[in-house]
Amino acid sequence: PVRVRFCPSPTGNPHVGLVRTALFNWAFARHHQGTLVFRIEDTDAARDSEESYDQLLDSMRWLGFDWDEGPEVGGPHTPYRQSQRMDIYKDVAAKLLDAGHAYRCYCSQEELDTRREAARAAGKPSGYDGHCRDLNDAEVEEYKAQGREPIVRFRMPDEAITFTDLVRGEITYLPENVPDYGIVRANGAPLYTLVNPVDDAMMEITHVLRGEDLLSSTPRQIALYKALTELGVAKEIPAFGHLPYVMGEGNKKLSKRDPQSSLNLYRERGFLPEGLLNYLSLLGWSLSADQDIFTIEEMVAAFDVADVNPNPARFDLKKCEAINADHIRLLEVKDFTERCRPWLKAPVAPWAPQDFDEAKWQAIAPHAQTRLKVLSEITDNVDFLFLPEPAVDEASWTKAMKEGSDALLRTAREKLDAADWTSPESLKEAVLAAGETHGLKLGKAQAPVRVAVTGRTVGLPLFESLEVLGKEKALTRIDAALA
Ligand code: GLU
Repeated sequence: PVRVRFCPSPTGNPHVGLVRTALFNWAFARHHQGTLVFRIEDTDAARDSEESYDQLLDSMRWLGFDWDEGPEVGGPHTPYRQSQRMDIYKDVAAKLLDAGHAYRCYCSQEELDTRREAARAAGKPSGYDGHCRDLNDAEVEEYKAQGREPIVRFRMPDEAITFTDLVRGEITYLPENVPDYGIVRANGAPLYTLVNPVDDAMMEITHVLRGEDLLSSTPRQIALYKALTELGVAKEIPAFGHLPYVMGEGNKKLSKRDPQSSLNLYRERGFLPEGLLNYLSLLGWSLSADQDIFTIEEMVAAFDVADVNPNPARFDLKKCEAINADHIRLLEVKDFTERCRPWLKAPVAPWAPQDFDEAKWQAIAPHAQTRLKVLSEITDNVDFLFLPEPAVDEASWTKAMKEGSDALLRTAREKLDAADWTSPESLKEAVLAAGETHGLKLGKAQAPVRVAVTGRTVGLPLFESLEVLGKEKALTRIDAALA
């Protein structure tokens, strides 16, 4: 059975790269009717926070992910927070030391730095040089007498490590490029290098799907796994698949600090989880060459990690928005109407408490649905219906109100007054006829009407907007523009 894991560290608000990793693991688990383990890697007390932990869970829920083992759902390998598993790691570290798979290293940081510089200058590999691998008792006593506090280092086997990456195929690491590495700090705190594979082993993970930035830890983890297997802690070495980098602006790796990478930003702007996930799935994967828009169920049915493309994927905000717009259009109108609510309330919409009108909202919603890239755009697109007077944006006003606009508006008012206000078609005829009178095409003729009534030069379909606003208010606004 497939057992995969999603194991973020709760250090600040989740970023889109993390969401992509979660998505691929989740889709892989669901495709194979396997188990998704959600584990919290909170061993770095200085960087992890309870607030980030809550945010992480809330984000996972918002995205629509479920997990079979982990926080709030429990499971056979409880607890799923590493901060609560410290005794396990201490125990494993002791076993590794006893069996000789690990040793205490007394080198100080300065000594390490000096030797690294020397190795570099000599053109030799600059990783840890094995200095403390085989200290004798006297040497150890001497270091202790000096008051040195050792770290625990894993002893890498003196052999090449080859594995078949699920995304990249066969990869070999030579021993000189994978030196012995620290697994427990001098203060006794276990490191990622230890706790992550120990938990993967104990939680019986079969497939590790994670970002390419972790590729170089894989040979170390495989070696550690072998040692754990010997000690009876691990059963089988999992398969590894490394997902491609996500590139941002200027073809640089999208970093956690990049504002464009923050999941909260997408939530606040009103991306639908299904739109965002659809887009993120395309960062390294595709359903087919000619279908960019699909549901999460379609993705789950088709997802195979072997189809993931190892080349870096570029994060393209425009495309992300376009895909989201498509998902907005795919919603049932009723669902759309409800999902817009947060952007039709104070404080986002300051007019909402006193002026919101449910009937008007229901009437305009279907016309808004076809126009939005993200839900937050709804606020400015419908405010003209609810504000006592349109929120005029000066730049739009000057742009739309040209010489001759007054004359046009006067004619349009006359024709609109005589039109049938239950028919957008009739309102269009009126503006079209007014345009003809002044030698203007529809586009030019409707601009001043739009800005007089809505305050803006772009917006929802104009004639439907006029109908929903109602004759009296619309004509009053045209009069005000002419005054
Ligand atoms: N906690 C690690 C991270 O967030 C997990 C890495 C892994 O998947 O092995 O980077």
